[in-house]
Amino acid sequence: MSMRNEHDLPWLKDTLAALRDESRGHAIILHGGAGSGQFELALRAAQAWLCESAPGPCDRCTSCHLAVAHSHPDLKVVLPEALQQSLKWFSDGDGDADGGDGDSKSKRKPSREIRVEQVRQAIDWAHTSSGRGQGKVLVLFPADAMNTVSANALLKTLEEPAAGMRLLLCVDDPEKLLPTIRSRCQRVRLTAPSMETSLAWLKQQGHADAHILLAAAGGEPLAAAQLAAQGLNAAMWASLPAQMVQGDLRVWAAMAVPDALRAMQLICHDVMALTAGAEPRFFPADALEAGPDWQALIDWQRALVRTSRHADHPWQAPLLIEALAGQGRAALLGHTSSSKAKSPRIGTLRA
Ligand SMILES: [Zn+2]
Repeated sequence: MSMRNEHDLPWLKDTLAALRDESRGHAIILHGGAGSGQFELALRAAQAWLCESAPGPCDRCTSCHLAVAHSHPDLKVVLPEALQQSLKWFSDGDGDADGGDGDSKSKRKPSREIRVEQVRQAIDWAHTSSGRGQGKVLVLFPADAMNTVSANALLKTLEEPAAGMRLLLCVDDPEKLLPTIRSRCQRVRLTAPSMETSLAWLKQQGHADAHILLAAAGGEPLAAAQLAAQGLNAAMWASLPAQMVQGDLRVWAAMAVPDALRAMQLICHDVMALTAGAEPRFFPADALEAGPDWQALIDWQRALVRTSRHADHPWQAPLLIEALAGQGRAALLGHTSSSKAKSPRIGTLRA
């Protein structure tokens, strides 16, 4: 598998240079740009630090070849199990049997967390001697996938780092990390490229109606390309609000619960913006109408936020989507009197 790099995603170049700056500390939080190539950038920075021909990455030395092949002995990338599978990312020592740190169930789904066992393995690895003499690099992606136990295990390494060790913690929002972790790291931010750059890149990748996809992805070009890869097109996206108002949930029912929740939150955001006299951000303006009842929109927004905190739970998806879409429909049409629509009894919908 070959990952994209700063030659494919030229907006990464400045931030890569900032990460390469030798005066930086040993622990860095790389934040922002989750849908603009954050993971790709983290891997390139790691490759640059390990490159044997400064300023790297040169893409020619042995270290660079090993890094690209995921077999560099001094580079460890720690991902949640679920992400390892979706990225098809495996390297030595990953994907072995259950770590047995308490979350194993008989038929457990791949974990969305970075488990404490993974962090402990990484720390043990960091304290063995460096294979190629350029130090070691540990990348955690996303770092907020560490639960409190995992984060506390990592904290010791931040306090007493192994010699020549660099840590790169990737996260969308640094506030999602423990304050004790944040205070021991420097921060480097990746910002999404400009709209012009993003649109040009998406068109170059062959995406029609790139501006609608880009808006749907909150302005992040790789996220937009991924929406398209999941089968979303501009016409489908633009039709979601109207379908909700019509009570036609076929497209909605086919979406994964987290995707459907996100889309509803974006509709709610945009209708609120429109109602307040501002521009919608995620949907074309002609796909929406102002909401007639502000309070109904606020109630819907609250229900969506409440539910999305538990989006990984085994919901009975069709019932959940139906309830929330029903509330959304009522809010968009201004039917607030029905207490049934106003407050879907989420508690009864768990599988
Ligand atoms: Zn190199």
